[in-house]
Amino acid sequence: MALQADYLIPIDFGLSDERKMMIDMLKKFKEKECPKEKIMEWDEAQEFPVHVWKKLGDEGILGACFPEEYGGTGGNIVDETLITEEISNSFSAMGLAYLTGVCFGGMSILHYGTDEQKQNYLPKLIAGDWNFALSLTEPGGGTDILGALKSRAVEQPDGSFIANGAKIFTTGLHAANTIVFICRTDDVPEKPARGLTIFLVDRDNPGQQEITGKLLNQKFCDGITYHKIKKLGSWILASFEVAYEDVKLSKDQILGERGKGWYNIVSTLNNERIVCAAICNGLAQGCLEEANQYAIEREAFGKPIGQFQAVQHRLADMATEIELARLVTYKAAWMQANNPTDPGVGVIASMAKMYASEAAFRCTDHALRILAGYGFTMEYHIQRYYRDIRQLVFAPITNEMSKNFIGQVMLGQKKSY
Ligand SMILES: Cc1cc2nc3c(=O)[nH]c(=O)nc-3n(C[C@H](O)[C@H](O)[C@H](O)COP(=O)(O)OP(=O)(O)OC[C@H]3O[C@@H](n4cnc5c(N)ncnc54)[C@H](O)[C@@H]3O)c2cc1C
Repeated sequence: MALQADYLIPIDFGLSDERKMMIDMLKKFKEKECPKEKIMEWDEAQEFPVHVWKKLGDEGILGACFPEEYGGTGGNIVDETLITEEISNSFSAMGLAYLTGVCFGGMSILHYGTDEQKQNYLPKLIAGDWNFALSLTEPGGGTDILGALKSRAVEQPDGSFIANGAKIFTTGLHAANTIVFICRTDDVPEKPARGLTIFLVDRDNPGQQEITGKLLNQKFCDGITYHKIKKLGSWILASFEVAYEDVKLSKDQILGERGKGWYNIVSTLNNERIVCAAICNGLAQGCLEEANQYAIEREAFGKPIGQFQAVQHRLADMATEIELARLVTYKAAWMQANNPTDPGVGVIASMAKMYASEAAFRCTDHALRILAGYGFTMEYHIQRYYRDIRQLVFAPITNEMSKNFIGQVMLGQKKSY
């Protein structure tokens, strides 16, 4: 890949009227349905508000990037990016739910599902009646996923499969109706990327009305049990260890092609990275807004602390980093929307995920220092942003692996692992 991009960069940075309206609508939606005080309560209760997901569906937000035939409004990754950024400003856990539900679940089904799977799942997801969880990472490691993946589904004489294995960090499972489960079905010597297969596994009684977001240590369906992992952040969207014991699966549950699961996953990675960057940008913007307001209101030595250059410069650094992170994120989204087969999209999307998560990481630190003592209390929201950003520098992909990818694909360096 050339070091200098040889495509044209759009010089119009304005948003269409429709997109502006969509963002305005989302801002009002958040004020009404998920004000920050409620988010704080859900965070403390470690509870996912399933009713907000439903209302996002009612407002057409979940269908923004799906074709009209499934109930969507026919937008693209640019819409996904704008929506995720806005939701994640104060509510990054909902941004993560959007990532697991819309990207890992819905977009995967749209890109390589059968017609039947699309007809079955997409309208329910878009209406807010359904959600997904991705069960890929195993206890042996997430970075070297192909080396660590031991889950296996063995074909039976009648053509069905029996699956066994253990997964970790499957996130949002308590609010999900369907697991996107990845395991090995075939052995291809010397080619670990081949032979993986994706299965869609529905919860027993998967109706959304029965899912409360509080189902923390449960049976998902015959053979699948899960229990909650205690973690530092994103308490609203819990993560789980999942045991798969003699799970009976049918051929109809295969998503994509048998043995091609890894290549299917890779085909949606750009979307995942861009949406992940958008979550970070929204989270960082929320930090900036709160720290800026605090700096106007809080006084020391008879004047607002924002008047001290040390504080003002932190705010200016935050604003600048957020602007840069947005630029690279929007550029990645624009490239993905206009030329998804360009190999450069993966590089820019990786840069966006890496830069946005590191920038947001720094912004949470700036904000905590500006709020100082109060920022450290559970009465303010900064502590939540500070905890919630920690995971995004290494999940869903570590920033070290993003750098490996950029070094190898863009700069022509030898593979480093
Ligand atoms: C809160 C949370 C939610 C998650 N949600 C999900 C989910 O919904 N579904 C799912 O399947 N998974 C999920 N994950 C798993 C996530 O994708 C992994 O944590 C991530 O891929 C990193 O894997 P690891 O934690 O096993 O770290 P490891 O792979 O053990 O890496 C440890 C360290 O070694 C470094 N390292 C390893 N190899 C290299 C290399 N070649 N070059 C440079 N550095 C290297 C890493 O960068 C990292 O710093 C989640 C994780 C968390 C924490």
